[in-house]
Amino acid sequence: MTDRYDLITLGAGSGGVAASRRAALHGARVAIVEAGRVGGTCVLRGCVPKKLLMYAAQFGDAFAEARGYGWSVAAPHFEMARWAAAKAAETARLEGVYRSMLAGSGVTLIEGRGRLAGPGQVRVGERLLQAPHILLATGGAPVRDSIPGIEACATSDELLDLDHIPDRVAVIGGGYIAVEFASMLARLGARVAVYYRDRLPLRGFDEMLRTAAAAELQAAGVELHPGLVPRRVQRLASGLLLELGDERVREFPWVLNATGRLPNTADLGLEAAGVRIDASRAVAIDPTLRTTAPGVYAIGDVTNRRNLTPVAIAEGRALADSLFGGTPRVVDLSRVASAVFMLPPIASVGPSEAQARADGHALKVFETDFRPMKQAFVGGTERTRMKLLVDAADDRVLAVHMIGADAPEIVQSLAVALTAGATKAHFDRTIAMHPTAAEEFMLLREPLR
Ligand code: FAD
Ligand code: NDP
Repeated sequence: MTDRYDLITLGAGSGGVAASRRAALHGARVAIVEAGRVGGTCVLRGCVPKKLLMYAAQFGDAFAEARGYGWSVAAPHFEMARWAAAKAAETARLEGVYRSMLAGSGVTLIEGRGRLAGPGQVRVGERLLQAPHILLATGGAPVRDSIPGIEACATSDELLDLDHIPDRVAVIGGGYIAVEFASMLARLGARVAVYYRDRLPLRGFDEMLRTAAAAELQAAGVELHPGLVPRRVQRLASGLLLELGDERVREFPWVLNATGRLPNTADLGLEAAGVRIDASRAVAIDPTLRTTAPGVYAIGDVTNRRNLTPVAIAEGRALADSLFGGTPRVVDLSRVASAVFMLPPIASVGPSEAQARADGHALKVFETDFRPMKQAFVGGTERTRMKLLVDAADDRVLAVHMIGADAPEIVQSLAVALTAGATKAHFDRTIAMHPTAAEEFMLLREPLR
């Protein structure tokens, strides 16, 4: 049986669903092929369940702070199994929403694993689908071979399906997933040790944020091991043994492999179709999201550039508008805001100070570091840190960096100002909203350097 469409999308995650719905809105006949559950990484095993676990972890701090605000709180106790049941119900609800959004847009959902089968053709089991345009939106998955033996460790996928919090946890890696989950697990009752190969976590982020992230993790009781990663992991009956070199070993009942993710490019028939894959196993694309094979496009994590949900969605919509909406456009990834949902959270838009200098900008750097009002009242130690990078040549604000309560909410809004080309003079002219933490961005007077 052959089915004919205008567009076939492989992968019903954030990017694939956005592209397919937008294409259908423009009148295209669209089929979307999904090998697993509809919704993809973000909804089922990424952003959404991660943030729901972060909310759970936040209560760990809130109960302690509540006492300082006059509340009597009996000894609180977290039951992961109850969280897991509620999370499963919520992700099932969201999967239902995604399925009905696809159906409501007139997109045909085909459940099964898709594979390129020749020019303009995709095979799903016995079915052969044909379309002049094929979109690869197959996302990524945790890397499981970064260190010998690491395949015995859990990844974020398994962590989010736990029904109890292990009492001791080792985290290997120092990126987004390592930092977010180390911070959460510490508040949910685990004793956490993080092993990473750089001197600070969160390579690529501004130095101020990286230093503060390390300090906040330590303040939450997390043991940090910079410059140290296991050479090998061994599975034992009682848990996992990390071989740390110089005959040092350490056993943990549970270990999180947070050493990165790899694009899902295996078994897609890419080589035969002439789709080039780069050294990181990602689909190579040009700025218009075209691969090296005519009529084949790729978006989101399978292209391994900025692996963030809003990027996959923006690319999916841009592609659909370009192919079917008569409005060709390119997505600008030069100023993508991003957040690390540790506690307190981090958010950034624009380059780090080191990157901005490497790009040749003469900078004025404005910084502030204070104990937020809510913390000061209860004698807490958590601090809020903010940084503005201003181009000395034309006063334009190049970057905003923050760690502190509500940082992602604040920086998301400031990202609009940066997109609009705001200058430091615009920040200075904006009358503050008091008492807030965000107002401190309007009150930065003298550059630090
Ligand atoms: P995906 O959402 O991964 O979708 C790909 C889909 O393709 C999957 O459903 C898969 O089953 C399907 N598929 C694969 N192969 C085939 C095939 N051959 N045939 C058919 N279907 C196939 N991003 C943020 O912006 N904010 C966050 O807070 C955030 N938190 C995260 C937390 C974690 C723990 C993780 C792992 C990721 C997080 N991300 C976050 C990243 C975000 O989830 C991804 O960038 C986003 O989901 C990428 O979307 P995508 O459409 O490219 O791929
Ligand atoms: P990251 O790329 O953020 O971090 C990977 C970590 O693993 C780095 O610390 C890296 O070290 C380390 N690493 C890689 N290979 C090895 C190795 N062989 N031995 C030891 N350490 C190694 O990946 P994550 O898995 O944390 O997250 C994947 C992506 O998902 C992120 O990049 C992000 O795009 C997205 N994501 C976004 C989130 C958000 O928006 N809040 C949350 C979670 C994920 P080094 O730095 O030294 O290279």
